[in-house]
Amino acid sequence: MRKFMVVFILMAAFYAATILQAADDKPYVIVVSFDGFRWDYTDRGLTPNLDRLMDRGVKAQSFEPVFPSKTFPNHYSIVTGLYTPNHGLISNHFRNPYTGEEYRLGDTVSVRQAKWYRGETIWVTAQRQGVKTASFFWPGSETEPGYTHPTYFKYYDGSIPHKERVDGVIEWLSLPEEQRPQLIFLYFSDTDTQGHRHGPDSPQLNAAIKLVDRQLGYLQQRLQEIGMAEQVNTIVLSDHGMSSVTPERLIRIDRFVDLSRVTIDDGGPFMRLSVKDPYKKDDVLEALQKQAEHFRVYRKTDIPNHWHYRNSPFIGDLLLVADVGWSLVKDAAEAKRLQKPGTRGNHGYDNHALDMHGIFVAAGPAFKEGYRTGTLHNIDVYPLLVDILGLTPNPMIDGKAERIRFILK
Ligand code: AMP
Ligand code: ZN
Ligand code: ZN
Repeated sequence: MRKFMVVFILMAAFYAATILQAADDKPYVIVVSFDGFRWDYTDRGLTPNLDRLMDRGVKAQSFEPVFPSKTFPNHYSIVTGLYTPNHGLISNHFRNPYTGEEYRLGDTVSVRQAKWYRGETIWVTAQRQGVKTASFFWPGSETEPGYTHPTYFKYYDGSIPHKERVDGVIEWLSLPEEQRPQLIFLYFSDTDTQGHRHGPDSPQLNAAIKLVDRQLGYLQQRLQEIGMAEQVNTIVLSDHGMSSVTPERLIRIDRFVDLSRVTIDDGGPFMRLSVKDPYKKDDVLEALQKQAEHFRVYRKTDIPNHWHYRNSPFIGDLLLVADVGWSLVKDAAEAKRLQKPGTRGNHGYDNHALDMHGIFVAAGPAFKEGYRTGTLHNIDVYPLLVDILGLTPNPMIDGKAERIRFILK
């Protein structure tokens, strides 16, 4: 009888081990975004935790954003694999000129309306195939109806302490296996905020670099504590870089154009103009072209191909793009605002400019070890995640798996 019991216990233990083994075989990915973390911030000797991650895994020389190099367009390109006109978010703020409705980063009504978002996010792709997902803040993750947002998500609140965000991620990973998300997004804004306020070369920015790096350290520590450190793939990336801007480098548009003849959207690194009288489009374009110093102006149809920006009905008639470090402003009042202290860095410029590039560092069972590569493209992250999680992708994407797949084992 005792012998029988021993055999039974051994069999039960073997069975339990097989189940645990099955759970262990699942791929897990955490994508951490450090907003506005420029490609070269890792060279400042302030990031011991990022350094450890890159030693264990992959580091790209830089991470190319899409145009415009702003927060919402880029976070949404990362999760859809699409250029901005194809996923809908052509800026942090834009208008539908046909209805007059506005989309705005800080507006909790519009950011939750699915109608502004096109393409398929990686969380929708995953959930359709039975894989649970989660987000502790990500632009475009708060939409209704329910099937369009991650399985678990939080409404954005920048005042939620960093520790709470990491603990939230660990809580999700500690759920029973059938409820546990395999793909989790996590976001920190500090490097962007301090970069804007004090510039990319300021001590305040360096403090923010250290702060976000410490969050990565805390995440790794908590993953160790729950026994998942070896199993989880961690990707740390950023949406864009940062350039210093100075009060002397301002371009005032009212010097060239009668402001009553145009509607202006955006400003700073780039500006979109709609000319009220369609017959005057060429006049406005010529006036701007004649004056164009430290910026370029394009008719919508002539926007360079490499920006992949032309194909949106919301862009307006003309696109103005400033040289890196210069700022386009409407008039004297706006110029004054930009001359105030606390406005020393910006992004949104040509996405090919190196100052606009971010970081990409990743480690875990899926990634090569101690591997260094050149520039990666953020629209290729969607197909990368598809590969790691073993999903069938939305085939209608701009990203290319073959441009990034080689970083995997
Ligand atoms: P920007 O530098 O203008 O491109 O945008 C950066 C800002 O976007 C950050 O400082 C955050 O305050 C804000 N932000 C980031 N994620 C979200 C989100 N999910 N919802 C609302 N605002 C966000
Ligand atoms: Zn950003
Ligand atoms: Zn920013």
